[in-house]
Amino acid sequence: MALWVYYLSERVLRYISTRGRAPELGFDEVLLAGLATDGGLYVPKAWPTLGASEIGALAGLDYPDVAARVMAPFVAGSALENDLPALTKDAYAAFTHTAVAPLTQLASNDWIVELFHGPTLAFKDYALQAVGLMFDRVLKEKGRRITIVGATSGDTGSAAIEACKNKDSVDIFILHPAGRTSEVQRRQMTTVEADNVHNIAVNGTFDDCQNLVKDMFADEGFRTQMNLSAVNSINWARIMAQVVYYFWAAVHVGAPYRQVAFSVPTGNFGNVFAGRVAAHMGLPVSHFIVGSNSNDILTRYFETGAMTMDGVVPTLSPSMDIQISSNFERLLFGALGQDGDAVARLLEQLKQSRAYEVPAETHAEILKRFVGRRLDDAGTTRVMRDVYAETGRLIDPHTAVGVHAARTAQIDPAIPRLTMATAHPAKFPDAVEAATGVRPALPPALADLFNRTERFTTLDSNLDTIKSFVRENIRA
Ligand SMILES: *Cc1c(COP(=O)(O)O)cnc(C)c1O
Repeated sequence: MALWVYYLSERVLRYISTRGRAPELGFDEVLLAGLATDGGLYVPKAWPTLGASEIGALAGLDYPDVAARVMAPFVAGSALENDLPALTKDAYAAFTHTAVAPLTQLASNDWIVELFHGPTLAFKDYALQAVGLMFDRVLKEKGRRITIVGATSGDTGSAAIEACKNKDSVDIFILHPAGRTSEVQRRQMTTVEADNVHNIAVNGTFDDCQNLVKDMFADEGFRTQMNLSAVNSINWARIMAQVVYYFWAAVHVGAPYRQVAFSVPTGNFGNVFAGRVAAHMGLPVSHFIVGSNSNDILTRYFETGAMTMDGVVPTLSPSMDIQISSNFERLLFGALGQDGDAVARLLEQLKQSRAYEVPAETHAEILKRFVGRRLDDAGTTRVMRDVYAETGRLIDPHTAVGVHAARTAQIDPAIPRLTMATAHPAKFPDAVEAATGVRPALPPALADLFNRTERFTTLDSNLDTIKSFVRENIRA
């Protein structure tokens, strides 16, 4: 009996906060909590690993089965554990490519991994479709409900709505700045027919939307009463579900018997950090190439070791228009030997003086695996045009930043470079047409998007107004 209990407790994965002062939790609580109570982000206490033969065996499986195998160690001990194979089958059933995440070769050792065959045409579907089902399963098990509130300038809102629509235990409210998102992006959110989905067009900017959401979370009474929860990439479950396609893609070009490199168009650092997790688990990755647009805080960091905040400029790749990458904190925590106090000190410094410097040895350690590359809008247009001329393929502006980074990083040319294609070209038709002369068509499932009825409520940028709306519209 004692031995059995010991065995169980050993295989249940525990999660700790990157700032070291929040309670250790199991997977279900981490899923529902999002941010840790000390302001940190949850990460596994120790990395589970897969042996070379286990990784090699993934090559023969389809995407949902790879997903179940890769995620299994992270949910050990959760209500989800036994359901994982059925859940992943369900999550990826509606994806429009039979391979789910097909690989395309552009040139020798130059590949793209197409992560845009989900319902909203961006890579966020790959995690959120699974995470939506996880929320529903765990909440039902616990007899609880949640209210998801989020602000979006584009891709996250639609992916979250698609993932949560018609889930019994979830109500979702997404705020977007009225008249300031692209029409495709707005329609992807507002044409979803489901009683639990609420789109709020705020008379204001994206920053106003984000501040309203922050203020709702900061109101302890409201937060508890409404069971508020978040689905942005601070949620560990999203990172976990993104680890899958790094294994999936790598085994298709010869891993684990050969090294690979990944190039990732990056904003909040969630996607590329998921790749780092795959490497922790045993995937042989020589380098992560971090692509940025003109909002190049990460490129500057890799060049100097200092993280220095600057203003945000709008670009052709809006999902990477960021001031700071919140998931970098997870990398920092690992690189600093899981010293939560040291992480908390650096983040405090950032808050005080808009900058921090990573200790020299830590920075050197990070540089062994990470390379940063930037590309401005003119360059992005040029790469979209070049790839079209070379291969006849249309790529979106985010993917173009990644392809450029992959092609210019100075790493061993014998290693295959896989660029994560994070959005479908039809999501950014104007930029793609300006570069190539070809207007990309929406895939058949979205072909009638412009004929569908929109449903949204326009409200003023006022906290009480928004709170009343949420209160009146949740299904108790
Ligand atoms: C969200 C997004 C990104 C940035 O991903 P992070 O995980 O925040 O680094 C890049 N490209 C597209 C198309 C996105 O939607």
